[in-house]
Amino acid sequence: MNLVWFRNDLRLDDNPALYEACLNNEAVQAVYVATPSQWQQHDEAPIKLGFRSAALSSLSKQLDSLGIPLTLLEGDDFKTLPTLITDFCRQQKIKRVFFNRETPLHEQQRDQSVTAELEKAGIACEAFNGDLLVTNPVTTQNGEPYKVFTPWYRNWLKQLEQSFTAPLLQPAPASRQSSKKAINTDFLLPGSQPFRDDLWPATEQEGLSRLAKFANRRLTHYTEHRDYPAINGTSTLSPYLASGLISPRRCVAMIQQASAEQGFDWRESSWLRELAWREFYRYLMISFTQLSQNKPFKSNPKEWPWQPNPTALKAWQTGNTGFPIIDAAMRQLLQTGWMHNRLRMLTASFLCKLLLIDWHEGQRFFMQHLIDGDFASNNGGWQWSASTGCDASPWFRIFNPETQSRKFDADGRFIAKFIPELAKLDNKQIHAPSATLRKQVRYADPIIDYKAARQRALSSFETGN
Ligand code: FAD
Repeated sequence: MNLVWFRNDLRLDDNPALYEACLNNEAVQAVYVATPSQWQQHDEAPIKLGFRSAALSSLSKQLDSLGIPLTLLEGDDFKTLPTLITDFCRQQKIKRVFFNRETPLHEQQRDQSVTAELEKAGIACEAFNGDLLVTNPVTTQNGEPYKVFTPWYRNWLKQLEQSFTAPLLQPAPASRQSSKKAINTDFLLPGSQPFRDDLWPATEQEGLSRLAKFANRRLTHYTEHRDYPAINGTSTLSPYLASGLISPRRCVAMIQQASAEQGFDWRESSWLRELAWREFYRYLMISFTQLSQNKPFKSNPKEWPWQPNPTALKAWQTGNTGFPIIDAAMRQLLQTGWMHNRLRMLTASFLCKLLLIDWHEGQRFFMQHLIDGDFASNNGGWQWSASTGCDASPWFRIFNPETQSRKFDADGRFIAKFIPELAKLDNKQIHAPSATLRKQVRYADPIIDYKAARQRALSSFETGN
Protein backbone atom coordinates (compact mmCIF):
# COMPACT_ATOMS: atom_id res chain seq x y z
CA MET A 1 0.00 0.00 0.00
CA ASN A 2 1.32 3.46 -0.97
CA LEU A 3 0.33 6.77 0.59
CA VAL A 4 0.24 10.16 -1.14
CA TRP A 5 0.53 13.04 1.28
CA PHE A 6 -1.17 16.04 -0.35
CA ARG A 7 -0.13 19.55 0.66
CA ASN A 8 0.09 22.51 -1.78
CA ASP A 9 -0.61 20.26 -4.75
CA LEU A 10 -4.35 19.59 -4.73
CA ARG A 11 -4.61 18.17 -8.23
CA LEU A 12 -4.48 14.97 -10.26
CA ASP A 13 -2.90 16.56 -13.35
CA ASP A 14 0.90 16.81 -13.41
CA ASN A 15 1.28 15.64 -9.85
CA PRO A 16 4.58 13.69 -9.67
CA ALA A 17 3.99 12.21 -6.19
CA LEU A 18 0.55 10.90 -7.14
CA TYR A 19 1.75 9.71 -10.53
CA GLU A 20 4.65 7.73 -9.08
CA ALA A 21 2.54 6.27 -6.26
CA CYS A 22 0.10 4.90 -8.83
CA LEU A 23 2.69 3.25 -11.07
CA ASN A 24 2.55 -0.54 -11.23
CA ASN A 25 -1.09 -0.62 -10.20
CA GLU A 26 -0.20 -0.48 -6.52
CA ALA A 27 -2.97 0.12 -3.97
CA VAL A 28 -2.93 3.78 -2.97
CA GLN A 29 -4.40 5.93 -0.23
CA ALA A 30 -4.10 9.69 0.27
CA VAL A 31 -4.00 12.02 3.27
CA TYR A 32 -4.18 15.74 3.89
CA VAL A 33 -3.09 16.91 7.33
CA ALA A 34 -4.63 19.91 9.08
CA THR A 35 -2.22 21.85 11.31
CA PRO A 36 -4.34 24.70 12.75
CA SER A 37 -1.72 26.11 15.17
CA GLN A 38 0.91 26.14 12.46
CA TRP A 39 -1.49 27.83 10.05
CA GLN A 40 -2.16 30.48 12.66
CA GLN A 41 1.56 31.06 13.12
CA HIS A 42 1.86 31.34 9.33
CA ASP A 43 -1.11 33.75 9.12
CA GLU A 44 -2.99 31.52 6.68
CA ALA A 45 -6.15 33.39 5.66
CA PRO A 46 -9.48 31.87 6.79
CA ILE A 47 -10.82 32.33 3.24
CA LYS A 48 -7.80 30.54 1.80
CA LEU A 49 -8.58 27.66 4.17
CA GLY A 50 -12.20 27.84 2.96
CA PHE A 51 -10.96 27.62 -0.64
CA ARG A 52 -8.72 24.68 0.34
CA SER A 53 -11.60 22.90 2.08
CA ALA A 54 -13.68 23.11 -1.10
CA ALA A 55 -10.69 22.09 -3.22
CA LEU A 56 -10.14 19.04 -0.97
CA SER A 57 -13.80 18.06 -1.26
CA SER A 58 -13.50 18.19 -5.03
CA LEU A 59 -10.13 16.37 -5.03
CA SER A 60 -11.57 13.66 -2.82
CA LYS A 61 -14.30 12.94 -5.39
CA GLN A 62 -11.74 12.83 -8.20
CA LEU A 63 -9.52 10.48 -6.19
CA ASP A 64 -12.48 8.31 -5.30
CA SER A 65 -13.09 7.68 -9.00
CA LEU A 66 -9.52 6.36 -9.19
CA GLY A 67 -10.09 4.09 -6.19
CA ILE A 68 -7.98 6.26 -3.88
CA PRO A 69 -9.58 7.28 -0.56
CA LEU A 70 -8.54 10.65 0.87
CA THR A 71 -8.42 10.96 4.67
CA LEU A 72 -8.14 14.20 6.62
CA LEU A 73 -5.81 13.84 9.59
CA GLU A 74 -5.85 16.48 12.32
CA GLY A 75 -2.57 17.53 13.90
CA ASP A 76 -1.76 20.79 15.60
CA ASP A 77 1.56 22.27 14.57
CA PHE A 78 4.23 20.69 12.35
CA LYS A 79 5.89 19.06 15.40
CA THR A 80 2.90 16.75 15.83
CA LEU A 81 3.23 15.30 12.34
CA PRO A 82 6.02 12.70 12.61
CA THR A 83 4.02 10.64 15.13
CA LEU A 84 0.63 11.31 13.55
CA ILE A 85 1.66 10.25 10.06
CA THR A 86 3.76 7.30 11.22
CA ASP A 87 0.89 5.97 13.37
CA PHE A 88 -1.51 6.30 10.43
CA CYS A 89 0.93 4.42 8.18
CA ARG A 90 1.29 1.62 10.72
CA GLN A 91 -2.47 1.25 11.10
CA GLN A 92 -3.05 1.21 7.35
CA LYS A 93 -0.04 -1.00 6.60
CA ILE A 94 1.50 1.65 4.35
CA LYS A 95 4.91 0.75 3.00
CA ARG A 96 5.83 3.87 1.01
CA VAL A 97 4.92 7.56 1.36
CA PHE A 98 5.03 9.95 -1.62
CA PHE A 99 4.95 13.76 -1.48
CA ASN A 100 5.93 16.84 -3.48
CA ARG A 101 8.49 19.18 -1.91
CA GLU A 102 7.71 22.70 -0.66
CA THR A 103 10.27 25.50 -0.44
CA PRO A 104 9.88 27.46 2.83
CA LEU A 105 12.17 26.47 5.70
CA HIS A 106 9.50 25.24 8.17
CA GLU A 107 7.99 23.01 5.51
CA GLN A 108 11.42 21.58 4.67
CA GLN A 109 12.15 20.94 8.35
CA ARG A 110 8.72 19.30 8.73
CA ASP A 111 9.47 16.97 5.83
CA GLN A 112 12.88 16.04 7.23
CA SER A 113 11.46 15.10 10.63
CA VAL A 114 8.50 13.18 9.19
CA THR A 115 10.81 11.31 6.80
CA ALA A 116 13.21 10.42 9.64
CA GLU A 117 10.38 9.05 11.83
CA LEU A 118 8.87 7.06 8.96
CA GLU A 119 12.22 5.59 8.04
CA LYS A 120 12.75 4.56 11.67
CA ALA A 121 9.49 2.64 11.38
CA GLY A 122 10.72 0.95 8.18
CA ILE A 123 8.47 3.03 5.89
CA ALA A 124 10.11 4.49 2.78
CA CYS A 125 9.61 8.12 1.70
CA GLU A 126 9.90 9.51 -1.80
CA ALA A 127 9.96 13.26 -2.45
CA PHE A 128 9.28 14.87 -5.84
CA ASN A 129 9.17 18.30 -7.40
CA GLY A 130 5.77 19.51 -8.52
CA ASP A 131 6.18 23.21 -7.84
CA LEU A 132 9.34 24.42 -9.59
CA LEU A 133 9.93 24.65 -13.33
CA VAL A 134 13.70 24.30 -13.01
CA THR A 135 14.96 22.06 -10.24
CA ASN A 136 18.73 22.34 -10.73
CA PRO A 137 20.05 25.25 -8.69
CA VAL A 138 20.42 28.24 -11.04
CA THR A 139 23.67 29.84 -9.90
CA THR A 140 26.26 32.31 -11.16
CA GLN A 141 29.47 31.07 -12.82
CA ASN A 142 31.09 31.05 -9.36
CA GLY A 143 28.35 28.78 -8.07
CA GLU A 144 26.81 31.54 -5.98
CA PRO A 145 23.12 32.37 -5.78
CA TYR A 146 22.01 35.25 -7.99
CA LYS A 147 20.82 38.42 -6.28
CA VAL A 148 19.43 40.13 -9.36
CA PHE A 149 16.42 38.89 -11.28
CA THR A 150 17.40 39.56 -14.93
CA PRO A 151 20.66 37.54 -15.12
CA TRP A 152 19.00 34.80 -13.06
CA TYR A 153 16.10 34.84 -15.51
CA ARG A 154 18.37 34.49 -18.56
CA ASN A 155 20.11 31.49 -17.04
CA TRP A 156 16.83 30.02 -15.74
CA LEU A 157 15.23 30.33 -19.18
CA LYS A 158 18.15 28.52 -20.79
CA GLN A 159 17.80 25.68 -18.29
CA LEU A 160 14.04 25.60 -18.75
CA GLU A 161 14.46 25.21 -22.52
CA GLN A 162 16.91 22.35 -22.02
CA SER A 163 15.11 20.47 -19.28
CA PHE A 164 11.40 21.07 -19.91
CA THR A 165 9.33 17.90 -20.17
CA ALA A 166 5.61 17.58 -20.85
CA PRO A 167 3.31 17.61 -17.81
CA LEU A 168 2.41 14.21 -16.38
CA LEU A 169 -1.07 12.96 -17.11
CA GLN A 170 -3.41 12.10 -14.30
CA PRO A 171 -3.28 8.42 -13.30
CA ALA A 172 -5.85 6.21 -14.99
CA PRO A 173 -8.46 4.41 -12.90
CA ALA A 174 -6.96 1.01 -12.37
CA SER A 175 -7.78 -2.35 -10.99
CA ARG A 176 -5.84 -1.30 -7.89
CA GLN A 177 -8.48 -0.77 -5.22
CA SER A 178 -7.52 0.34 -1.81
CA SER A 179 -8.99 -1.82 0.94
CA LYS A 180 -10.29 1.34 2.57
CA LYS A 181 -13.44 3.10 1.38
CA ALA A 182 -13.56 6.89 1.04
CA ILE A 183 -14.52 8.20 4.47
CA ASN A 184 -15.46 11.70 3.60
CA THR A 185 -15.95 13.83 0.57
CA ASP A 186 -16.92 17.02 2.45
CA PHE A 187 -13.93 18.63 4.02
CA LEU A 188 -13.97 21.59 6.37
CA LEU A 189 -10.55 22.58 7.59
CA PRO A 190 -10.30 24.16 11.06
CA GLY A 191 -10.23 27.95 10.83
CA SER A 192 -11.97 28.04 7.43
CA GLN A 193 -14.34 30.82 6.51
CA PRO A 194 -16.65 31.12 3.53
CA PHE A 195 -15.03 32.55 0.39
CA ARG A 196 -16.48 33.94 -2.86
CA ASP A 197 -16.95 30.64 -4.67
CA ASP A 198 -18.73 32.50 -7.47
CA LEU A 199 -15.38 34.18 -8.19
CA TRP A 200 -13.11 31.29 -7.27
CA PRO A 201 -14.72 27.89 -7.92
CA ALA A 202 -12.33 25.62 -6.04
CA THR A 203 -11.82 22.82 -8.54
CA GLU A 204 -8.89 21.64 -10.59
CA GLN A 205 -11.16 21.76 -13.63
CA GLU A 206 -11.71 25.51 -13.08
CA GLY A 207 -7.95 26.10 -12.90
CA LEU A 208 -7.39 24.24 -16.16
CA SER A 209 -10.24 25.96 -17.96
CA ARG A 210 -9.13 29.42 -16.72
CA LEU A 211 -5.68 28.66 -18.09
CA ALA A 212 -7.04 27.54 -21.47
CA LYS A 213 -9.28 30.62 -21.81
CA PHE A 214 -6.47 32.93 -20.81
CA ALA A 215 -4.07 31.32 -23.30
CA ASN A 216 -6.59 31.50 -26.14
CA ARG A 217 -7.95 34.99 -25.58
CA ARG A 218 -5.75 37.13 -23.40
CA LEU A 219 -2.17 35.86 -23.39
CA THR A 220 -1.05 37.86 -26.42
CA HIS A 221 -2.55 41.09 -24.97
CA TYR A 222 -1.09 40.49 -21.52
CA THR A 223 1.66 43.12 -21.82
CA GLU A 224 -0.76 45.88 -22.88
CA HIS A 225 -3.51 45.00 -20.39
CA ARG A 226 -1.81 43.66 -17.30
CA ASP A 227 -1.48 46.96 -15.44
CA TYR A 228 -5.12 48.08 -15.64
CA PRO A 229 -7.16 46.80 -12.72
CA ALA A 230 -10.52 47.48 -14.41
CA ILE A 231 -9.55 45.17 -17.30
CA ASN A 232 -9.64 41.41 -16.99
CA GLY A 233 -6.11 41.31 -18.40
CA THR A 234 -4.29 38.86 -16.14
CA SER A 235 -4.92 35.15 -15.67
CA THR A 236 -6.36 35.27 -12.09
CA LEU A 237 -4.74 31.88 -11.62
CA SER A 238 -2.88 32.79 -8.43
CA PRO A 239 -5.26 31.02 -5.97
CA TYR A 240 -5.02 27.89 -8.16
CA LEU A 241 -1.23 28.05 -8.28
CA ALA A 242 -0.89 28.86 -4.57
CA SER A 243 -2.89 25.79 -3.49
CA GLY A 244 -1.58 23.69 -6.38
CA LEU A 245 -4.87 23.10 -8.21
CA ILE A 246 -2.78 23.69 -11.30
CA SER A 247 0.94 23.16 -11.89
CA PRO A 248 3.38 25.78 -13.24
CA ARG A 249 4.52 23.16 -15.77
CA ARG A 250 0.97 22.92 -17.13
CA CYS A 251 1.05 26.74 -17.51
CA VAL A 252 4.29 26.62 -19.51
CA ALA A 253 2.96 23.78 -21.68
CA MET A 254 -0.05 25.99 -22.43
CA ILE A 255 2.20 28.94 -23.37
CA GLN A 256 4.09 26.63 -25.74
CA GLN A 257 0.86 25.37 -27.28
CA ALA A 258 -0.44 28.93 -27.73
CA SER A 259 2.90 29.97 -29.25
CA ALA A 260 2.65 27.17 -31.83
CA GLU A 261 -0.96 28.07 -32.66
CA GLN A 262 -0.67 31.86 -32.53
CA GLY A 263 2.84 32.24 -33.93
CA PHE A 264 4.95 33.87 -31.24
CA ASP A 265 8.13 32.75 -29.51
CA TRP A 266 7.13 31.18 -26.17
CA ARG A 267 10.48 32.18 -24.62
CA GLU A 268 9.59 35.83 -25.08
CA SER A 269 6.21 35.62 -23.37
CA SER A 270 5.90 38.33 -20.72
CA TRP A 271 3.55 36.02 -18.83
CA LEU A 272 6.32 33.41 -18.61
CA ARG A 273 8.45 36.13 -17.01
CA GLU A 274 5.80 36.57 -14.30
CA LEU A 275 5.75 32.83 -13.63
CA ALA A 276 9.51 33.20 -13.35
CA TRP A 277 9.11 35.85 -10.60
CA ARG A 278 7.11 33.26 -8.66
CA GLU A 279 10.01 30.86 -9.08
CA PHE A 280 12.68 33.51 -8.35
CA TYR A 281 11.10 34.19 -4.95
CA ARG A 282 11.08 30.44 -4.22
CA TYR A 283 14.71 30.22 -5.28
CA LEU A 284 15.56 33.10 -2.91
CA MET A 285 13.77 31.29 -0.06
CA ILE A 286 15.91 28.22 -0.67
CA SER A 287 19.17 30.16 -1.08
CA PHE A 288 18.78 32.68 1.76
CA THR A 289 17.21 31.07 4.83
CA GLN A 290 16.85 34.42 6.62
CA LEU A 291 13.90 35.11 4.31
CA SER A 292 11.99 32.18 5.80
CA GLN A 293 12.68 33.71 9.20
CA ASN A 294 10.97 36.94 8.23
CA LYS A 295 14.18 38.95 8.19
CA PRO A 296 14.88 41.62 5.60
CA PHE A 297 17.10 40.48 2.73
CA LYS A 298 19.25 43.60 3.08
CA SER A 299 20.56 44.89 6.33
CA ASN A 300 20.56 48.64 6.61
CA PRO A 301 23.72 50.24 7.98
CA LYS A 302 21.57 52.97 9.52
CA GLU A 303 18.32 51.23 10.59
CA TRP A 304 15.08 50.89 8.74
CA PRO A 305 12.90 53.89 9.47
CA TRP A 306 9.58 52.19 10.35
CA GLN A 307 7.39 53.83 12.95
CA PRO A 308 4.30 52.27 14.57
CA ASN A 309 1.09 54.12 13.70
CA PRO A 310 -2.00 52.08 14.69
CA THR A 311 -4.50 54.71 13.47
CA ALA A 312 -2.98 54.97 10.00
CA LEU A 313 -2.58 51.19 9.83
CA LYS A 314 -6.28 50.73 10.60
CA ALA A 315 -7.25 53.27 7.92
CA TRP A 316 -5.09 51.39 5.38
CA GLN A 317 -6.45 47.98 6.40
CA THR A 318 -10.07 49.04 6.15
CA GLY A 319 -9.78 51.07 2.94
CA ASN A 320 -10.31 54.47 4.57
CA THR A 321 -7.13 56.41 3.82
CA GLY A 322 -8.92 59.01 1.71
CA PHE A 323 -6.81 58.02 -1.34
CA PRO A 324 -9.40 56.47 -3.68
CA ILE A 325 -7.14 54.07 -5.58
CA ILE A 326 -5.59 52.76 -2.33
CA ASP A 327 -8.99 52.37 -0.66
CA ALA A 328 -10.55 50.69 -3.70
CA ALA A 329 -7.64 48.23 -3.77
CA MET A 330 -7.94 47.40 -0.06
CA ARG A 331 -11.70 46.97 -0.43
CA GLN A 332 -11.09 44.65 -3.39
CA LEU A 333 -8.91 42.56 -1.08
CA LEU A 334 -11.49 42.54 1.72
CA GLN A 335 -14.44 41.77 -0.58
CA THR A 336 -12.87 39.24 -2.96
CA GLY A 337 -9.73 37.89 -1.26
CA TRP A 338 -7.62 38.99 -4.24
CA MET A 339 -5.92 42.18 -5.38
CA HIS A 340 -4.58 43.18 -8.77
CA ASN A 341 -0.75 43.17 -8.97
CA ARG A 342 -0.38 46.90 -9.77
CA LEU A 343 -2.52 47.66 -6.73
CA ARG A 344 -0.50 45.34 -4.50
CA MET A 345 2.51 47.45 -5.47
CA LEU A 346 0.67 50.73 -4.83
CA THR A 347 -0.85 49.76 -1.48
CA ALA A 348 2.45 48.28 -0.29
CA SER A 349 4.40 51.39 -1.28
CA PHE A 350 1.76 53.55 0.43
CA LEU A 351 2.11 51.61 3.69
CA CYS A 352 5.91 51.29 3.82
CA LYS A 353 6.93 54.58 2.29
CA LEU A 354 4.17 57.16 2.73
CA LEU A 355 3.02 55.88 6.14
CA LEU A 356 6.49 54.54 7.10
CA ILE A 357 4.87 51.48 8.67
CA ASP A 358 6.91 48.28 8.95
CA TRP A 359 6.38 46.04 5.91
CA HIS A 360 5.82 43.04 8.23
CA GLU A 361 2.43 44.57 9.12
CA GLY A 362 1.44 44.65 5.47
CA GLN A 363 2.85 41.20 4.77
CA ARG A 364 0.84 39.77 7.69
CA PHE A 365 -2.39 41.55 6.74
CA PHE A 366 -2.14 40.40 3.11
CA MET A 367 -1.44 36.82 4.18
CA GLN A 368 -4.43 36.90 6.55
CA HIS A 369 -6.78 38.07 3.79
CA LEU A 370 -5.50 36.75 0.46
CA ILE A 371 -7.07 33.69 -1.12
CA ASP A 372 -3.79 33.29 -3.05
CA GLY A 373 -1.52 33.93 -0.02
CA ASP A 374 1.85 32.44 -0.88
CA PHE A 375 4.69 32.93 1.58
CA ALA A 376 7.50 33.28 -0.97
CA SER A 377 5.65 35.61 -3.38
CA ASN A 378 4.10 37.68 -0.61
CA ASN A 379 7.39 38.07 1.22
CA GLY A 380 9.13 38.86 -2.07
CA GLY A 381 6.47 41.41 -3.07
CA TRP A 382 6.60 43.15 0.30
CA GLN A 383 10.37 43.25 0.50
CA TRP A 384 10.49 44.55 -3.08
CA SER A 385 8.05 47.32 -2.16
CA ALA A 386 9.78 48.21 1.11
CA SER A 387 13.20 48.31 -0.62
CA THR A 388 14.54 45.78 1.90
CA GLY A 389 14.53 42.93 -0.61
CA CYS A 390 16.77 41.31 -3.18
CA ASP A 391 16.67 43.30 -6.46
CA ALA A 392 14.06 45.51 -4.79
CA SER A 393 12.55 48.80 -5.82
CA PRO A 394 15.08 51.54 -4.85
CA TRP A 395 14.25 53.31 -1.59
CA PHE A 396 13.61 56.64 -3.34
CA ARG A 397 10.95 55.12 -5.60
CA ILE A 398 7.66 56.16 -4.07
CA PHE A 399 4.45 55.74 -6.02
CA ASN A 400 2.22 58.79 -6.23
CA PRO A 401 -1.27 57.30 -5.70
CA GLU A 402 -3.06 60.05 -7.63
CA THR A 403 -0.76 59.93 -10.67
CA GLN A 404 -0.90 56.14 -10.74
CA SER A 405 -4.67 56.26 -10.44
CA ARG A 406 -5.03 58.70 -13.35
CA LYS A 407 -2.71 56.51 -15.42
CA PHE A 408 -3.99 53.01 -14.69
CA ASP A 409 -7.66 53.68 -13.90
CA ALA A 410 -8.12 56.75 -16.09
CA ASP A 411 -11.93 56.59 -16.28
CA GLY A 412 -12.20 55.66 -12.59
CA ARG A 413 -14.09 52.46 -13.37
CA PHE A 414 -12.18 50.37 -10.85
CA ILE A 415 -12.54 52.98 -8.09
CA ALA A 416 -16.28 53.32 -8.76
CA LYS A 417 -16.75 49.57 -8.47
CA PHE A 418 -15.23 49.29 -5.00
CA ILE A 419 -16.08 52.74 -3.61
CA PRO A 420 -19.70 53.18 -4.69
CA GLU A 421 -19.91 56.53 -2.82
CA LEU A 422 -17.50 57.93 -5.44
CA ALA A 423 -19.22 56.35 -8.45
CA LYS A 424 -21.03 59.53 -9.44
CA LEU A 425 -17.87 61.66 -9.58
CA ASP A 426 -16.45 62.44 -13.00
CA ASN A 427 -13.08 61.08 -14.06
CA LYS A 428 -11.30 64.31 -13.12
CA GLN A 429 -12.61 64.32 -9.52
CA ILE A 430 -12.70 60.63 -8.74
CA HIS A 431 -8.93 60.24 -8.28
CA ALA A 432 -8.64 63.05 -5.71
CA PRO A 433 -12.04 64.50 -4.76
CA SER A 434 -12.22 68.04 -3.38
CA ALA A 435 -12.96 68.54 0.32
CA THR A 436 -16.51 69.66 -0.51
CA LEU A 437 -17.24 66.60 -2.62
CA ARG A 438 -15.82 64.31 0.04
CA LYS A 439 -18.18 65.81 2.58
CA GLN A 440 -21.15 65.49 0.21
CA VAL A 441 -20.57 61.82 -0.54
CA ARG A 442 -19.18 60.99 2.94
CA TYR A 443 -15.81 59.81 1.82
CA ALA A 444 -12.75 60.04 4.12
CA ASP A 445 -10.34 62.99 4.01
CA PRO A 446 -6.75 62.03 3.10
CA ILE A 447 -4.90 60.78 6.20
CA ILE A 448 -1.64 62.29 4.96
CA ASP A 449 -0.45 65.13 2.77
CA TYR A 450 1.25 63.28 -0.11
CA LYS A 451 4.06 65.77 -0.72
CA ALA A 452 4.99 66.08 2.96
CA ALA A 453 4.81 62.30 3.47
CA ARG A 454 7.03 61.73 0.45
CA GLN A 455 9.58 64.19 1.76
CA ARG A 456 9.50 62.58 5.21
CA ALA A 457 10.05 59.13 3.65
CA LEU A 458 12.98 60.32 1.54
CA SER A 459 14.79 61.90 4.45
CA SER A 460 13.98 58.97 6.80
CA PHE A 461 15.34 56.41 4.37
CA GLU A 462 18.45 58.52 3.92
CA THR A 463 19.16 59.08 7.60
CA GLY A 464 17.59 55.90 9.02
CA ASN A 465 15.22 57.66 11.42
P1 FAD B 1 -0.73 36.87 -13.65
O1 FAD B 1 -0.29 38.23 -13.99
O2 FAD B 1 -1.67 36.18 -14.57
O3 FAD B 1 0.57 35.99 -13.44
C1 FAD B 1 0.54 34.54 -13.48
C2 FAD B 1 1.11 33.96 -12.22
O4 FAD B 1 2.48 34.34 -12.09
C3 FAD B 1 0.43 34.45 -10.96
O5 FAD B 1 -0.75 33.72 -10.70
C4 FAD B 1 1.52 34.21 -9.92
O6 FAD B 1 1.58 32.87 -9.52
C5 FAD B 1 2.79 34.54 -10.71
N1 FAD B 1 3.15 35.96 -10.52
C6 FAD B 1 2.73 37.01 -11.26
N2 FAD B 1 3.33 38.15 -10.83
C7 FAD B 1 4.11 37.80 -9.79
C8 FAD B 1 4.98 38.52 -8.92
N3 FAD B 1 5.18 39.83 -9.04
N4 FAD B 1 5.61 37.84 -7.95
C9 FAD B 1 5.45 36.51 -7.81
N5 FAD B 1 4.65 35.76 -8.60
C10 FAD B 1 4.00 36.40 -9.58
N6 FAD B 1 1.31 36.49 -5.52
C11 FAD B 1 0.81 35.37 -4.97
O7 FAD B 1 0.55 34.39 -5.68
N7 FAD B 1 0.59 35.30 -3.62
C12 FAD B 1 0.85 36.34 -2.78
O8 FAD B 1 0.66 36.22 -1.56
C13 FAD B 1 1.34 37.55 -3.35
N8 FAD B 1 1.56 38.65 -2.59
C14 FAD B 1 2.06 39.79 -3.17
C15 FAD B 1 2.32 40.91 -2.34
C16 FAD B 1 2.83 42.08 -2.90
C17 FAD B 1 3.11 43.27 -2.00
C18 FAD B 1 3.07 42.15 -4.28
C19 FAD B 1 3.61 43.42 -4.89
C20 FAD B 1 2.82 41.05 -5.09
C21 FAD B 1 2.32 39.87 -4.55
N9 FAD B 1 2.03 38.74 -5.35
C22 FAD B 1 1.57 37.58 -4.77
C23 FAD B 1 2.36 38.73 -6.79
C24 FAD B 1 1.23 39.14 -7.75
O9 FAD B 1 0.64 40.33 -7.31
C25 FAD B 1 0.15 38.07 -7.91
O10 FAD B 1 0.75 36.82 -8.17
C26 FAD B 1 -0.78 38.40 -9.08
O11 FAD B 1 -1.41 39.62 -8.86
C27 FAD B 1 -1.80 37.30 -9.22
O12 FAD B 1 -2.71 37.58 -10.25
P2 FAD B 1 -2.78 36.68 -11.55
O13 FAD B 1 -2.88 35.25 -11.17
O14 FAD B 1 -3.83 37.24 -12.43
O15 FAD B 1 -1.34 36.92 -12.16
